[in-house]
Amino acid sequence: MIYQDFKPCPLCGASGQIPYANCTDFTVSKESYTLMRCPSCGVVYTLDPPREDEMSRYDKVNLKLKLGDSPSGLIGRLYYHVRNLMLRKKVRIVESQSYRTGGSLLNYGAKTGFFSHKMEKRGWKVTSVEKYHEERLFSLEMFHHRMIDVPEMDALHAGTFDVITLWHVFEHCHNPHELLDRFYELLRPGGILIMACPNICSTDAMYYGPYWAAYDVPRHLWHFNPSSISALAYKHGFTLMHHEKMPFDSFYISILSEKHLHHRMSFLRGMIHGLHSWRISLTRRSKSSSLVYVFRKRITSE
Ligand SMILES: [Zn+2]
Repeated sequence: MIYQDFKPCPLCGASGQIPYANCTDFTVSKESYTLMRCPSCGVVYTLDPPREDEMSRYDKVNLKLKLGDSPSGLIGRLYYHVRNLMLRKKVRIVESQSYRTGGSLLNYGAKTGFFSHKMEKRGWKVTSVEKYHEERLFSLEMFHHRMIDVPEMDALHAGTFDVITLWHVFEHCHNPHELLDRFYELLRPGGILIMACPNICSTDAMYYGPYWAAYDVPRHLWHFNPSSISALAYKHGFTLMHHEKMPFDSFYISILSEKHLHHRMSFLRGMIHGLHSWRISLTRRSKSSSLVYVFRKRITSE
């Protein structure tokens, strides 16, 4: 196939798109999707994904696990322990990178609201955006925290947020350009945008190839590395200030990848490969399974 036959890059419009991998939706539909790589901006993307209004058929809503009603068994207890550690890490990133211990925070794609609740308890004024009704309802009942639906974001005032967070959300978004522009408007001058995304240059991505669980097609539309996401954000007025690893993702993603491969002892094998990936990321952050990016809103164009 000739590269010029493919449509231009959906992010930068460049032609000459290159097939990158063929992946399967192992968790829901079992459908196959092609990943493409843009030779110009470097982003990898899912070719012809379902439309936004079709995506609820593919999204995994696993409230029971997220809820935390009675963790049972080793895996359940491990999950809760890791989630609490991750919440503490997210708090530390927000407060250390914003140099604030309180302020105004927009949590976009807030899911069941554990992070929003944690930040509220620390004194932050939190606005949460969540597209799924079940998750908004859960947050209301569990934390008495009212989340807004995506269209309600239109009513938010420009320049009112100190921090905007997207924890493993941006790779799901059909409208990345529009969203980044809106975040730029909503942030105060000097405010920060924090986004956590899987990293396609990670050790575990290289090892598992098309079975790497964090491709998670067709839910993940964009597959970034540090250079492609920072180039995109830069075009929208953001400068990358800092990035750091998400320590447990290499284990979780490796275990899931082993399951996709139908390997025996997938948990043990995943832990071993997760440990290997994690150890490499200690000295080479850019090889981490997932990365948290901290962008600062530029005051003027550079
Ligand atoms: Zn491109």
